[in-house]
Amino acid sequence: MSVPFVSVERASKRFVRPAELGDRIVARIAGRRAVPEVVHAVTDVSLEVAAGEWLGLVGESGCGKSTLGRLVAGVYVPDEGCATIAGAPVARYDGGRVAKLTTRVQMIHQDPFASLNPRLRVGETIIEGPRAHGLVRRGDEAEFVVDLMGKVGLDPGYARRLPHQFSGGQRQRIAIARALAMRPDVIVADEPVASLDVSVQAQVLNLFLDLKNALGLAALFISHDIGVVRHVCRRIAIMYLGRVVETGPAIEVTAKPEHPYTRALMASVPRVGGVRGDFQPITGEIPSPLDPPRGCAFHPRCPVAGPRCRSETPKLAAIAADRDAACHIHSGGVG
Ligand code: SF4
Repeated sequence: MSVPFVSVERASKRFVRPAELGDRIVARIAGRRAVPEVVHAVTDVSLEVAAGEWLGLVGESGCGKSTLGRLVAGVYVPDEGCATIAGAPVARYDGGRVAKLTTRVQMIHQDPFASLNPRLRVGETIIEGPRAHGLVRRGDEAEFVVDLMGKVGLDPGYARRLPHQFSGGQRQRIAIARALAMRPDVIVADEPVASLDVSVQAQVLNLFLDLKNALGLAALFISHDIGVVRHVCRRIAIMYLGRVVETGPAIEVTAKPEHPYTRALMASVPRVGGVRGDFQPITGEIPSPLDPPRGCAFHPRCPVAGPRCRSETPKLAAIAADRDAACHIHSGGVG
């Protein structure tokens, strides 16, 4: 891979949830302290994205991919490790709050309606950020908005409309325009088409492809749908229960997955004519991040797990040129 532009190094993020009142009362009666719950959202993750590269991040709901995206976007600060852009930290704690240190990364959320201010007209939504950061001169604002609306396929004549006057696909285009208005080098797109109708999904994905080719942005493109990610990203990272378990070129990973979890994900991708290949679909539920299984977190669902998998956590390691996997099958066997 070329020189990393976005770098996540051994990042972990946990969320502590205080014990419920009922649990605290029960604990007090029993003469002990109620223990807060700890959600292990991201554990010891390292990733790199080169300038202009689109990395797809794939996994089931609850696997920690949105938390990882927020670490890259500077919404959260890692508890351990770091997230940097061009060598500088993305965010830090300042007086107990998260302070984002750069505008070079912008985020696009899954639900465009929830992420847009319902009382702000589209033109104001787009210009708000650049105005606050002095990126556009006052006299150039109108032209700036018209240009951006055109780039994302919106009629500039709608600049004075409110978000509720647009369809879901149009609202996602507004959210994309708002992110691009900050002139980022990197976008974090968190399930950007998941809330849209299938026909609109294709239009918005094509917009992403057009922008990718035209603007030279890097991106972390997050989706539970490996088929969608394969469509827009050259490289792919598979996440399971807070850890990255496989990375590599999207074409190779999807054609010849090396991690049992990736194989199971591929089995869930619909094929024309119902041909699924050799992979078995995944069974069971993803375990709770409150209490991840010991050893390999995938072992309760893995069809080829062995004794070693139940006690030793596999490390992400190179298994071929530009391919990494975290599985004992590739490092001495399952025992
Ligand atoms: Fe399956 Fe073991 Fe590999 Fe985990 S380490 S994916 S349980 S074979």
